[in-house]
Amino acid sequence: MTDAQLSLLKDKIVAELERLAGDIKALEEVTRPVGGEDMDDITRMDSIVNQGVNSAALAAARCRQAGLEYALKRIQDPEFGYCLECGEEIPFARLLAMPEATCCVNCAR
Ligand SMILES: [Zn+2]
Repeated sequence: MTDAQLSLLKDKIVAELERLAGDIKALEEVTRPVGGEDMDDITRMDSIVNQGVNSAALAAARCRQAGLEYALKRIQDPEFGYCLECGEEIPFARLLAMPEATCCVNCAR
């Protein structure tokens, strides 16, 4: 991987982390406990269902955030960009689409 590719990837990870931080903040807002005695049952059911969907999205966003933060730390390592399973170089296009990838497509299967 060239230095230009590395810095492109780094920018991409940082931008993605910023976007995720915004998403997580918004999702945390909407996953606050459902309250309100004045809510009728249908409204309450609705918000409980929505909360389940949002909680899943929040968990996924946090998981991605952890992966990206890890990638940002590893990006300085000489092994970064190489598959942890087989040691082959991970194609740059794959890293750009999924910077948190630690395996090549073959080993990720
Ligand atoms: Zn591999």
